[in-house]
Amino acid sequence: MSRFSQVRFLVSAASAAQFPADVGAEVGFVGRSNAGKSSAINAIAQRHGLARTSKTPGRTQLLNFFELAPERRLVDLPGYGYADVTAAQRRAWVPLIEALRARESLRGLFVIVDARRGVGEGDEELLEWAGPARRIHVLLSKCDKLGRGEASAAVRAAEAALAGRSSVQLFSALRGTGVAEARDTLADWLGIRDRK
Ligand code: GDP
Repeated sequence: MSRFSQVRFLVSAASAAQFPADVGAEVGFVGRSNAGKSSAINAIAQRHGLARTSKTPGRTQLLNFFELAPERRLVDLPGYGYADVTAAQRRAWVPLIEALRARESLRGLFVIVDARRGVGEGDEELLEWAGPARRIHVLLSKCDKLGRGEASAAVRAAEAALAGRSSVQLFSALRGTGVAEARDTLADWLGIRDRK
């Protein structure tokens, strides 16, 4: 049964004034374009098509809030923190992202990184943005594209690059690898208990 009982889209916020009330707990999801973030959100929330909005052209400057349970939210940050975002987009982002960072309910970030690419220099800005006050969890996505040995090597390389600043796991939305583990971590951070 789903850990997240009441998944629903809340709002696409273009300004901090549109953010939901800063109560309860929330976790941000970030990843460079095409990293597999939307697929990860849909797999973890068990709602196909939920994170589609981030793909709509012109909507990349919006923060998309989803409710997973009462006062427990997932925040999709399309395109944040990466070099493939234009300078103009970046300027539009800064106040929005800083307002998100100022929220008491923000517990941490899930960073989606293509397992074949690994954690690199482009991810440093993000780690600094979040840390050390917020937790970070890296999903090494699309791990179905790697052999077993390559996948283990990818985890070791990511752990070395992250140097204790983040937890890390293998993930495949396609095969379901690591989905339960990711869901457990998210539920734990959000303070959502197992339903007995
Ligand atoms: P986003 O831009 O980060 O939101 O990425 P998407 O979730 O839209 O995925 C980008 C591309 O990667 C799409 O073509 C997906 O079908 C593919 N993809 C996403 N997750 C997986 C996965 O677990 N395995 C494989 N093989 N492909 C995936």
